[in-house]
Amino acid sequence: MSRYLAAVRGFAAAAIALLLGLTPAQAQQDDMIENALRAAARTFERALPGLDAVSMGVPTQEYHDALVQRRFASSLWGAPLDVQLVTNESERGLCSGFAAYVTPAIQQGAVSLVICPRFFSPGADELRQTTMLHEMVHVVAGTNECQAMAFTARIQKLATGSFQPVSDYWTRNKCNASRYRLPD
Ligand SMILES: [Zn+2]
Repeated sequence: MSRYLAAVRGFAAAAIALLLGLTPAQAQQDDMIENALRAAARTFERALPGLDAVSMGVPTQEYHDALVQRRFASSLWGAPLDVQLVTNESERGLCSGFAAYVTPAIQQGAVSLVICPRFFSPGADELRQTTMLHEMVHVVAGTNECQAMAFTARIQKLATGSFQPVSDYWTRNKCNASRYRLPD
């Protein structure tokens, strides 16, 4: 891209951000969230042929809809739900330990996926995608960490032949004693 075009595009992005009442930093964060969701959706769609209707307790259609449309017919809650993305500016509470988390409670027909400051760490594109794949398991299927890690690894393995290593978190959550397994 020429420098002139880059400047025009930068200006256009800033103008759109202003129109939406966003600061440039917020607009940049929104871009990072959208990019991570798109990358996660591409990976999931590549893995789709290898999945059953329900894999590891995660209903494939619900997971797909949550990831791609941010709205899904929840069999867990027996109702259609929106996935509400919430950006948390503070590193306190759960954000002190996580890049993102899902609150198990449903409020006004939506389940909240909270994005924490560390999600936006420079250069962490792969981790951002993994985070979205992982959190969307919680959105659809609940709070089991071993299930979320095993399903995410299975998706990545099916799509790309390898998966983001999670051995520390796997051990800390005693997942070897769970019914879930990481791919070989
Ligand atoms: Zn988790």
